[in-house]
Amino acid sequence: MGYAVAGVDIGSTTAKSVVINEKGEILGKSLAPVGVKIVQDAEKSFEAAVASAGLSKDDVEFIAGTGYGRFKIYFGQAVITEISCHAKGAHFLFPKTRTVLDIGGQDTKAIRVSERGEVIDFAMNDKCSAGTGRFLDICAEALGYHVSEIGEASLKATYPVKISSTCTVFAESEVISQVSRGKSPENILAGLHRSIAYRSISLLRRVGIVPELTFTGGVSRNVGLVNTLEELLGMKVNVSPLSQYLGALGAALFALERVMGAEGSEEEKEEVVTV
Ligand code: ADP
Repeated sequence: MGYAVAGVDIGSTTAKSVVINEKGEILGKSLAPVGVKIVQDAEKSFEAAVASAGLSKDDVEFIAGTGYGRFKIYFGQAVITEISCHAKGAHFLFPKTRTVLDIGGQDTKAIRVSERGEVIDFAMNDKCSAGTGRFLDICAEALGYHVSEIGEASLKATYPVKISSTCTVFAESEVISQVSRGKSPENILAGLHRSIAYRSISLLRRVGIVPELTFTGGVSRNVGLVNTLEELLGMKVNVSPLSQYLGALGAALFALERVMGAEGSEEEKEEVVTV
């Protein structure tokens, strides 16, 4: 039997863990909300992924942590920035990836990657929740949807409503006032997706939009936003059912390199801090 390593991504809203074998194949994974007890949520996330792989914790040779809450993963052997992990995970699934857009619960990142999946440059918006998952969560709720439904719903739009507020708080009241003006929820959702797509594209321009572009993070599960990005960019956007796990997968791949003793680049080595 080969061996197993794990990547644990403790995000601002969601914990993701994956367990992979020596070939990089996913043996198990887990996804659960992160609450105030981050340390316990991290442990639970790892344990659920191990259980879904049909393994025990002792079977896992190396655990790498990443994400906003990565310093709360006390059981791991390494912490790595989520920028490096998303780049690595995206490159693993889509080897021609040269640009990554990661939209999570509270921030958006644009990352340029090399042919080897290493970070060349990045830009991020983490100052406010405009254009992030949180923004969509709140606007979806104001329209009576769960965020997982708004992608499909927006595909029925006939004429996207122009949303001028970029601030989450103002956008929520703008959404409510558009409803009272008789605009359909589908058209409002399509307008919200347009506004996020424009913001994302301007962030992407800061690093350069070189194909292929891979979209990662939980918001990449929104088919309406994916289609809008493709339409406005005039290019295909890679997404996968695993897109929300790509930070965790990237961390697991770094763990694998550690176990296999693979030589990482000097830049990668600097980012890997053993705790
Ligand atoms: P973080 O790492 O910051 O916790 P994630 O990358 O896990 O964030 O993304 C979380 C966000 O993904 C949520 O705020 C939500 O808006 C979005 N999301 C989660 N599941 C879905 C889904 N099924 N469809 C569309 N959006 C989703």
